[in-house]
Amino acid sequence: MTPSNETPASISVNGRTYAWPKQPLVVVCIDGSEPDYIEEAIAGGHMPFLAEKIKGGSDLRADCVVPSFTNPNNLSIVTGQPPAVHGISGNFFLDPDTGKEVMMNDPKFLRAETIFKAFHDAGAKVAIVTAKDKLRRLLGHGLDFTSGRAVSFSSEKANETTMADNGIEDAQAMVGRDIPDVYSAELSEFIFDAGVKLMESMRPDLMYLSTTDYIQHKHAPGTPVANAFYAMMDSYWAKLDAMGALLAMTADHGMNAKFGADNQPDVIYLQEVLDEMLGADAARVILPITDPYVVHHGALGSFATVYLSDGVDQASTMEKLSKYPGLANVYSKEEGCAEFQLPTDRLGDMIVVSDKHKVLGTSSDRHDLTQLKEPLRSHGGVSEQRVPLIITRHADVAADRHLRNFDIFDVALNHTA
Ligand SMILES: [Zn+2]
Repeated sequence: MTPSNETPASISVNGRTYAWPKQPLVVVCIDGSEPDYIEEAIAGGHMPFLAEKIKGGSDLRADCVVPSFTNPNNLSIVTGQPPAVHGISGNFFLDPDTGKEVMMNDPKFLRAETIFKAFHDAGAKVAIVTAKDKLRRLLGHGLDFTSGRAVSFSSEKANETTMADNGIEDAQAMVGRDIPDVYSAELSEFIFDAGVKLMESMRPDLMYLSTTDYIQHKHAPGTPVANAFYAMMDSYWAKLDAMGALLAMTADHGMNAKFGADNQPDVIYLQEVLDEMLGADAARVILPITDPYVVHHGALGSFATVYLSDGVDQASTMEKLSKYPGLANVYSKEEGCAEFQLPTDRLGDMIVVSDKHKVLGTSSDRHDLTQLKEPLRSHGGVSEQRVPLIITRHADVAADRHLRNFDIFDVALNHTA
């Protein structure tokens, strides 16, 4: 679409309307940022910029989407809608069309357009930088990279960018850093450095920076490594603020300790539980946390969905499971999808959520825990739903409004002076 010469006053997308930004808006999704991380870092004096900024800004809380995983929440944030609308219900799912368990990285699974595409089509400049390339493809979907007004790349593959696919040749050269290890704090630092350089060079109307939760999976709030990570982010946010950007920060999900007194992961192997209960091949457990990068969580999270074979008595299975120690909730597909606003065609017959400090596995032989060097911290359940929603300017939000993390573009664009 050819943009008109005049920018519109607002843009409507997915049933919501957003005012055109009056200054560059930078939305930061801090992966796995339980609210305590920022609170502890500020209390310890590690985030001087944010500590000062929230005095006149808005330090709010919001609920993320359940399953509290990365992809469903990032896509909710950038579409302004829950997974029932955008379709991305997990990192991983059982494709009913093929019967195969597959990653949900392919944009063909996306059912809504992004806020970025809607603004870009109307003439806005947009820039998206993520840690991992798996997410970049979904977030940048539909953007016309030949327009010269759209840039989207991951720090993981910043050395492979092209004008056609990313809107920038050799993003690594622009940033001037080595490509960091995929398991490192530097993978996220690269994003913020890129954000500052893009603000200098293209000054986008909308920028989205989405980190990885490698640090949060290993380090609790207030610990030295966590504080150093938040201090790093704070220093880049100060630079973006000094360049005239409005900043808005939220998280895709929180993070909790998921280990027992022996420091070992506190796992319920749900496939084994159901095999014992129903016999072999009666139930198939799918863990939507699964992705190719499992070193820091061993594919263990607090949310699972279960497909039942024909003839299995679902009501009595749910009844028995609901009494199983360590399980917080057992829903039918219909109940769970209504509760969490999920697409019914992409979940199994049952949805199972574990307690705050427990995780769900399939069977013990299918999880490689040898790479877990620290006691397990993970997410996925209702217990990781609380996240920060911070704007570096006062936002006029009704005190009784139930904020979601995917309201962040609304709050930043429509409710700030
Ligand atoms: Zn995440």
